[in-house]
Amino acid sequence: MKEKFWCVSCKNIFEAIGVKKEWKDPVYGPCMKFVAICSSCKTECDEYRDPNAQKKQSSSQEMACGGNCHSCEFNH
Ligand SMILES: [Zn+2]
Repeated sequence: MKEKFWCVSCKNIFEAIGVKKEWKDPVYGPCMKFVAICSSCKTECDEYRDPNAQKKQSSSQEMACGGNCHSCEFNH
């Protein structure tokens, strides 16, 4: 099933079939998200969420990775 993904490098929304990515966070335990590779720059992209949903989510799920990974929705 195709989902929408957001490329931070290209500032582009594209549709692709997501790949399930799982990792274990030392603070939050097992995490999961869907990613897809941007066809233009080959960057791994997160699912696109509309700004309202993202805002809502960030208040309850801030830094879900604990701030020590390079694969979550927060750029750190
Ligand atoms: Zn891209």
